[in-house]
Amino acid sequence: MTAPPRLEFRDPARGRALSTRLDRAIERLGRTVTLMHVCGSHEQAMARYGLRSRFPKGLRVLMGPGCPVCVTDAPEIDACIALAARGVHILTYGDMLRVPGRASSLDDARAAGARVDVIYAATQAAAIARASRDPVVFFSTGFETTAVATAAVLLDEPPPNLFVLSAHKWVPAAMDTVASTPDSKIEGFLAAGHAATITGFGLFEPFVARHRRPVVVAGFEPLDILAGLALLVEEVAEGRAEVVNAFPRCVTRAGNQRALDALFRVFELADGEWRGIARVPSGTLDLRADYARHDARERFALELAETPAVAERAAAAACRCGAIMSGLAEPSDCALFGRECRPDTPIGACMVSSEGSCRIWFEHGLGSEQAAR
Ligand code: SF4
Repeated sequence: MTAPPRLEFRDPARGRALSTRLDRAIERLGRTVTLMHVCGSHEQAMARYGLRSRFPKGLRVLMGPGCPVCVTDAPEIDACIALAARGVHILTYGDMLRVPGRASSLDDARAAGARVDVIYAATQAAAIARASRDPVVFFSTGFETTAVATAAVLLDEPPPNLFVLSAHKWVPAAMDTVASTPDSKIEGFLAAGHAATITGFGLFEPFVARHRRPVVVAGFEPLDILAGLALLVEEVAEGRAEVVNAFPRCVTRAGNQRALDALFRVFELADGEWRGIARVPSGTLDLRADYARHDARERFALELAETPAVAERAAAAACRCGAIMSGLAEPSDCALFGRECRPDTPIGACMVSSEGSCRIWFEHGLGSEQAAR
């Protein structure tokens, strides 16, 4: 019987060689360096393969604003809850159900009898609306990857009773905000390979020129991440700031032009709130005026304007999700981590989503010594 083929991107010998290369780059630098990745999938992969335990002393890798659920602003969730409470049929991705708004969640609304259903793809929203006589609101969240899927639905003759409540965000704008934070210690960014398949790696060149910090685009296998980090530390050690595409098997300089065309035919960049982080210039993807007939904020403007403001829960004030996603803290720096805030009793959004750093750290035992203190 022939042995199964070795997984090229999990080859232990190559992993050890890349770890050694990372160690040497840190030795050459001769001090601590702080890097940021901007993707929950990178954090998941680091946790799953135990990469953090192998990082050399002197390498700090923080997770930035890379969890789409976590950065969805509480008032955006509150708006959706308000429509659900008025009997509007809501569709959204499963991770959104338990994310707290200021006072409650869509799951709470569902428990109270609201019609809130989970979908797994934007195309399902159109299919469900076609089969219904009622207005259907798709609470669409996520970064450029899922925004393209929403755009494709709206470009494909959607039914007139389908309305989109967009909470889509544009990651490169948030990277700009994080890099401009006065106390930021981030010296380089690991960019998400899947998003770069759409945007292309050339998108990061103006960012690097503005901030003089390197960006390496990396995939999600353990060797992709180790290689990306080694390249970043080498750039820092050599005083270089360049964009490196470490995911050439999927990413090109220009990206996917058809997807980008679709995205920007339907959406336009606007200033908007990223939960707990900041108002990010050009950080949200709003529906263009051409799609106002499918914009839930237009269709339900009156209902949303009449919704009374809700007070934030007291416990949420201690949540440090914003500082974590801005690269100013780690999950274990939060006094609630692993105590009052756990996956079954989440206080902040970062403990809800499978892409949230607090949840990933909790589930993989990272930072547990601090939480147990
Ligand atoms: Fe927020 Fe909970 Fe994370 Fe603390 S542990 S930052 S309360 S999500």
